[in-house]
Amino acid sequence: MIKFHSTNYNTPDVDFKTAVLKGQALDKGLYMLNKIPAIEHQEIFSFKDLSLQEIAFQVLIKILKEQIPEQALRNIIHNALNFEIGLKKIEKFDYLCYLSKGPTCSFKDFGARVLARIMEYFLSIEDKEIIILTATSGDTGGAVAQAFHEMSRIKVVVLYPKEEISELQRKQMTTLGKNVTAIGINGKFDDCQKIIKTAFADKDLQVYNLSSANSINIGRLIPQTIYYFWSYSRIIERPNEKVVFSVPSGNFGNLTAGIIASRMELPVDKFVSAVNENDEFPKFLSSGIYTKIEPSRNCLSSAMNVGNPSNLARIFDLYGGQIDENGTILKNPNMEKLKASIISYSVSDNLTRETIIDFYRRYKKIIEPHGAVGWAALQIYRNNYSSQKQIKSITFETADPAKFPDEIISLIKVKPKLPNALKIIQNKKEFPNPIDITEYEDFKLFINNYL
Ligand SMILES: *Cc1c(COP(=O)(O)O)cnc(C)c1O
Repeated sequence: MIKFHSTNYNTPDVDFKTAVLKGQALDKGLYMLNKIPAIEHQEIFSFKDLSLQEIAFQVLIKILKEQIPEQALRNIIHNALNFEIGLKKIEKFDYLCYLSKGPTCSFKDFGARVLARIMEYFLSIEDKEIIILTATSGDTGGAVAQAFHEMSRIKVVVLYPKEEISELQRKQMTTLGKNVTAIGINGKFDDCQKIIKTAFADKDLQVYNLSSANSINIGRLIPQTIYYFWSYSRIIERPNEKVVFSVPSGNFGNLTAGIIASRMELPVDKFVSAVNENDEFPKFLSSGIYTKIEPSRNCLSSAMNVGNPSNLARIFDLYGGQIDENGTILKNPNMEKLKASIISYSVSDNLTRETIIDFYRRYKKIIEPHGAVGWAALQIYRNNYSSQKQIKSITFETADPAKFPDEIISLIKVKPKLPNALKIIQNKKEFPNPIDITEYEDFKLFINNYL
């Protein structure tokens, strides 16, 4: 059975169930696999004939066997990945993979939906219930709320800043009801975050089994390996053909999943880690010095505004290094190996805007700001390594353009089409704000009375 260690190495190894239900390790490190199983190139090649769900099963069973029975895993995948994934050839060797066709039109649907069902499965075995607390600046809240909606052993409470999110983002959380409660705060995202952090540290609330569902949870990361295998299998012509992945990166969960996939022997030539003006990672790769950015810089690709990515701890771990949650390096990773597999470029807001315009002009297709950062970084890579031009590439489109209508209209004068998933939400009735919160005590009272 594969066990999981903390990236801070100050707490005992645990099984997958414990890692998932705990979320973060007690020593504030992140859980990481002790061993990564390989898949033979011939088997990976044969994925071309399998559906997304079948590939998901073949990949996840390698990691999770002895932790989740086969039939239970099949059910989890069947119920979680019940939406589309897309792939389009843009240039002769360059593909765009659309991870934006899930219920909240964000790639976070993949990890969050599988995690929700894995948690529900483990809770039913333990006969326990939990409450997930999440603060959101917009997108994560919707993906988490939708993913955990109607789970019978899990309640979800999402805090959001009333005045700082779009109507559509709010409706993704407030129209669900049942086990999902969304609370609007007169304040900023930081105020939401502060309330949640206080709640986690509050001894009086410990009876409730509070948990979180962000990408520090290894149960959200492992399922994200699936779309690397899927997209790869759709474009290659022979086993062992290598490809380049361009990954729009914020908290580095997506990239970490890609590296895990490559350790499972998915043939990857290079990862292009595309970041916005929060450039702490490319700076680290070129200088060996890590300086977190605090507060993070506000950019167009807002879901990538992260100045000290949590999952860097996992990337360091994968290359033999160690970095703690404050961004202090305790042991350097093998820089030579790290740089051989990952190259990172920072893309400015200006270049992001130019890319959206240029992409529309060339291909008559709309790309949204996060995907545009990925596409722009790939172009820089292509220009710098022109001898590699024959190698195929896959860039991930992580959200739907309809989530950023104002920006897109101002750039290309075209209104992005609203996908069905968002259309449905638009016309749904919202549940009223359940309480007014002015201080932490109001929230605590609510948690106590709500249960
Ligand atoms: C969260 C998010 C990202 C960044 O992904 P990480 O795994 O945090 O690096 C990129 N694009 C969108 C649309 C997101 O929501």
